[in-house]
Order: sequence, then C-alpha cells, then structure tokens
Amino acid sequence: MTDLGENRLRENIAKIRETIAESAVRAGRRPEEIILCAASKTQSIQTVKIASNLNIDIFGENRVQELTEKYDAGAYGEKKVHMIGHLQTNKVRQTVGRADIIESVDSKHLLDAICAEAAKHEICQKIMIEINIGGELSKSGIAAEELWDMLEYAEGLDAVEVCGLMSIPPRYETDDDSRRCFAELKSMFDRAVDSGYGLKYLSMGMSADYVNAILEGANIVRIGTAIFGQREYK
Ligand SMILES: *Cc1c(COP(=O)(O)O)cnc(C)c1O
Repeated sequence: MTDLGENRLRENIAKIRETIAESAVRAGRRPEEIILCAASKTQSIQTVKIASNLNIDIFGENRVQELTEKYDAGAYGEKKVHMIGHLQTNKVRQTVGRADIIESVDSKHLLDAICAEAAKHEICQKIMIEINIGGELSKSGIAAEELWDMLEYAEGLDAVEVCGLMSIPPRYETDDDSRRCFAELKSMFDRAVDSGYGLKYLSMGMSADYVNAILEGANIVRIGTAIFGQREYK
C-alpha cells in the first residue's frame, strides 16, 4: 500500500477527533484534555510533513534512526515528537534534545544515560516511565511493582523530569478486560500523583483500544494505523 494522501489523512484524523470527543464526554471529561499523538513509524518524511499541518498534537516514533532523520529534515514542522519505542543506551545521544519527551524509559541504567546526556547539553530531559502491565515477554517496560523504586530513583536525577506513565497493555478480547487493565494503570498514576510525584501524562491507548483508554483516564493516545493506514515494513 502506498502512503495515504492529504485528504484521506485529514478525514481519518477528523473521525478520530470525533471519537476522542465522544469518549471524553462519556467519561465526563473535556475533549481538549486528550493529546492526539500520531504514531508515525514507517511513514515517509513527506507523509509526516503533510500530517504536521493537520489536526494532530504531537508525533511519536519508535526507532531513533527514523526520529533523527525526520527531525533533522524538519518533517515534524511546529509539532513535537515523543520517543515511544524501546530505547537502547547507545542511542540516547541522538534522542536527548530531539524528543520532547522520551515516553519509553524502562530501566535505571537508561535513566542514568539520559541524565548524563541531558546534563552535557545543560537541558532537562522530560521522560515517562513505561510499565509492562501485562507482563508480556515481548514487550518492554518495568513491572508494575517496580514503579515506586523507579520514581524515587528518577527524583534524585536533576537533568531528568518524570512527567508521566506510558503502557501498551495486552490485546484483550473484551472491552471489559481492556478497561480493567487501563483502570489499573490509572490507579497507579493517581497513587503516584497523590504521593507527590508531579506526573501530568498517562499515555495509553492505540488504534484498537483508545476509546477504552480514554474512558479510563488516558490523556495521551498514540494512534498509527487509524491515521496512516496499515503499515508497510520494508
Ligand atoms: C505503533 C505504535 C502505536 C500505534 O499503534 P496502532 O495500533 O497502529 O495505532 C502506539 N504506541 C506504540 C508504542 C507503537 O509502537
């Protein structure tokens, strides 16, 4: 499949915005609270440039190489980009400063590397902690019970600011199971906020399950396929 043109992208995004608004209202929330992150992995620089002028809030990339190429080509325009894929420490150098937020932080080792790089540039790098809520081996993220230790550790690093939690739950058969899992993440988020951690973002929900995520409290949804169509891996 070839990249979708501007009109199709605009239509897809308009439909998603409508669904986001309906879901927010159903949950007694304001639609403006929800940040739409366009997950643009595998999309060309040209397609990303087009999308950057449409009604999305930010971009999300999985691979450092793609993020770097698109960022340096100015593909994101005025929009910011988040790193949402697994990050290896040897790629931290390219990511810090380019990614507005690194959402997928899943070890102290990685936190240390990000902090050192950010300090070198005299910036504070915003990050989020990724939780592997379903405990699936194929997914990255820390175990739920490690969250408190990670939050406390990150608090001690001065060139890093933890601003939220991110997760990719398992694919559930039913909405009930899906919502239960998102609700669990929301309750971890709320407990962290109540404990004094300054978390702002709860990033959860993708094309298949963002309605459930919003109903349970997500304020960033990361959507790829529903915007750009099926991905073609080269
Ligand atoms: C690809 C990706 C998404 C978007 O997935 P879709 O199912 O295409 O909407 C969201 N989050 C992460 C971390 C991804 O890698």
